[in-house]
Amino acid sequence: MSQIKLTPRLEAVANLVDDQAKMADIGSDHAYLATYLVEQKKSPEAIVGEVAKGPLENAKSTVRAQGLSSRIDCRLADGLAALSKDDNVHSVVIAGMGGLLIKKILDAKKELGTFPQLVLQPNTDQDALRAWLVENGYAIQHEEMVAEGRHRYEIIVARPGEQTLSRADLTFGPILRKKQGPIFKAKWQHERDRYAQVVDRLEQSGQTALPKYQEVKEWIEAIDSEVFHG
Ligand code: SAM
Repeated sequence: MSQIKLTPRLEAVANLVDDQAKMADIGSDHAYLATYLVEQKKSPEAIVGEVAKGPLENAKSTVRAQGLSSRIDCRLADGLAALSKDDNVHSVVIAGMGGLLIKKILDAKKELGTFPQLVLQPNTDQDALRAWLVENGYAIQHEEMVAEGRHRYEIIVARPGEQTLSRADLTFGPILRKKQGPIFKAKWQHERDRYAQVVDRLEQSGQTALPKYQEVKEWIEAIDSEVFHG
């Protein structure tokens, strides 16, 4: 029985990490994910990367408390600077950050080459991250959407490969939009409601000539066509 209890979001991320592969968790904060994976014997060893000293200390103390300091290496570093090619990391997890930050972290260390598996959990700007992946030698192999409280989180698993994504694939996710699961539908219903409120406000205040009005109407059309098949 694990000492570490993951939240549904992190548990979903953990389940997607390849079995028996060395993993790295970049921006790990408390190192719960890496500790859980090693403790559960899903990962034989892990590297934890943290840019901030406070979270790194949290990570080290979690790892020490579970007696795993010989198998989880906690490193103070900006993004993928925590890793070198000699580390032979198989799975890289970057979770709980904005998509643009994840993209920046991946982009800053392209000399490391492609990793056999990326497990990414962007909180925002998922479309920009998907575009980066396909432009940089990855193909999206799996996607999941997880609910935790009132939040809905997207998880993207990518592996080296070639893929062409449409605009709709980038926005809604190539796998998520095929699956059309209940959490996916709830997210886009919520987004549609938000956009509809903006349309109402702009119409009531006679501001329909603003570019924002057209933009928001286009979002509603895209959601209707992709998600509600309107
Ligand atoms: N990954 C954990 C999760 O999903 O629960 C923690 C997410 S927490 C919101 C983001 C963490 O990423 C913080 O501890 C922050 O210090 C760290 N971080 C932000 N930018 C980073 C970077 N460039 N390199 C490494 N860590 C970073």
